[in-house]
Amino acid sequence: MIVAVYDTKPYDRRHLATSEHADIDWRFHEFRLSADTVSTAEGCAAVCAFVNDEIDAPCLERLSDLGVKLVAMRSAGFNNVDLDAAKSQGITVCRVPAYSPNAVAEHAIGLLLTLNRKIHRAYNRVREQNFSLNGLVGFDLAGRTVGVVGTGKIGRIAAQICRGFGMNVLAYDPHEDAVWAKERGVEYVRLPELLGKSDIITLHVPLLLETYHLVKAKTIAQMKRGVTIVNTSRGKLIDTGALIEGLKSGQIGGVALDVYEEEEGVFFEDHSGEVLQDDELARLLSFPNVLITSHQAFLTEEALNEIARVTSENIRRFAKGEALLEGTKVG
Ligand code: NAD
Repeated sequence: MIVAVYDTKPYDRRHLATSEHADIDWRFHEFRLSADTVSTAEGCAAVCAFVNDEIDAPCLERLSDLGVKLVAMRSAGFNNVDLDAAKSQGITVCRVPAYSPNAVAEHAIGLLLTLNRKIHRAYNRVREQNFSLNGLVGFDLAGRTVGVVGTGKIGRIAAQICRGFGMNVLAYDPHEDAVWAKERGVEYVRLPELLGKSDIITLHVPLLLETYHLVKAKTIAQMKRGVTIVNTSRGKLIDTGALIEGLKSGQIGGVALDVYEEEEGVFFEDHSGEVLQDDELARLLSFPNVLITSHQAFLTEEALNEIARVTSENIRRFAKGEALLEGTKVG
């Protein structure tokens, strides 16, 4: 079975090519899947895509014309797939719902520790033989209040790590798990209370109509002055313009991002040597209290192995007309 794989990097190719299903003929592409590139799926029964591929209605219509019946997302999120269009074209969409929630939660907390204790700045200083500590003052996490927005697989682990640091954990999720919260010493509150009481707010919700620009001027104004915001979920959860205003006014004390509103075409690629065209990203990079990584929270050996295992098993099952792995089909 031939499968076109888009937006691939060496680490994707290494893990997929060595997955146990030798019967899959992977056609790896470095470019992204979109209506402009979809013709490269000709002759393939399935395509495998990632978070920045544009699997919109025109792309899906063309995939259907080419006889592609399966879009296998090698990500948990699938907001870049037009599910209604996929359904009307008779294309099945699957994903990898939980390749390593630990990887993402650990990265979120890693970002928080780095930003708060300014480890990234200290690292650079020491390499220049600048052993001064001026400007490197952080705060103890123990005793602080963290607000976890979204207590699904990743949010729960983030909350548990924070409890391990001796933090008070508030959480907001429309689907509360009272048993888990009691066991872990987490308190569910409504969103405005979480915003008003948290020293740190970490986002672990999917991008949905209701969560688009969850962090915007109005919600930033409800937060504690000097709040630290961590986002490892999706860039469009935050209104970047409002975030910049919040940083400039001091209402926001620090921001750690693994995702960015306009990351498509920028993140995952080497643009050093080019002039950065995105003025808001350039402004964000100019703040000393902003730390950005390039959508790498998932990037552990364990997660890549699991993505390859689930993706190739689903493709094999689909080809044989068997049911997909439980919980992986979307739409
Ligand atoms: P999940 O589906 O297990 O949990 C999401 C939780 O969000 C659910 O409990 C849901 O009830 C809750 N939720 C939905 N709407 C909400 C709202 N309006 N307010 C508060 N909570 C709401 O998902 P997960 O595996 O924990 O992943 C969370 C997100 O992390 C994904 O959607 C994805 O966007 C992101 N992610 C990022 C990376 C990365 O590399 N940076 C990797 C994987 C996942």
